[in-house]
Amino acid sequence: MPTATSPAEGYFRNIYDTIKSIAIGMRITLRYCFSKSVTIHYPFEKLAFAPRYRGIHEFEADKCIACDMCAKACPVDCIYIDKSAPRKIDKKTGKATGGELLRYAIDYQKCMFCALCTEPCPTDCIHMGKNHDLSSYTRQEMVVEFHEIDAQGLRTPVPLWMQRNAASIPWVAAEKERIEKGELATKEADIPAV
Ligand code: SF4
Ligand code: SF4
Repeated sequence: MPTATSPAEGYFRNIYDTIKSIAIGMRITLRYCFSKSVTIHYPFEKLAFAPRYRGIHEFEADKCIACDMCAKACPVDCIYIDKSAPRKIDKKTGKATGGELLRYAIDYQKCMFCALCTEPCPTDCIHMGKNHDLSSYTRQEMVVEFHEIDAQGLRTPVPLWMQRNAASIPWVAAEKERIEKGELATKEADIPAV
């Protein structure tokens, strides 16, 4: 049978419990104050990506035959493709010929970076890249028109934050230069497989 506690005992018990819970919380906080940090000062420091990281796509329009296989595999229907006539790969050049690729767009408001679009591609022209930050001010900017940026020689968009920080952060300048040269991201991971 529980013993009844007096009001005074209850009062001091509450004070004891409060001090004890604060002490436990402070002990955990102090322990983390002196442990090695797992966060980085982004964007001033470069993030290291895990093997098979899935970032914003990189697209080789000159190899795309507009077969719609990627769009059909996409679980959220966020790839939009249009062509003027059938396209096929020229075996001599390895490039697509035939009709014009009128549109290849991905809506990043819906994309969940699952990479299912990359697997069925018969010409291996759609890849998951290593950029992850496509912050923008409008919904329209979240729809990347890859056929339009291809006309500028790009495989992937140069995000707004990259344009703004390239002058002051060396690794951002190097990444922007790579994109502007139309080079694909390296397949190698920045950190070893676990
Ligand atoms: S990564 Fe997934 S969700 Fe995004 S476009 Fe490809 S298939 Fe669709
Ligand atoms: S699967 Fe490949 S070739 Fe076919 S439309 Fe998609 S990106 Fe182009």
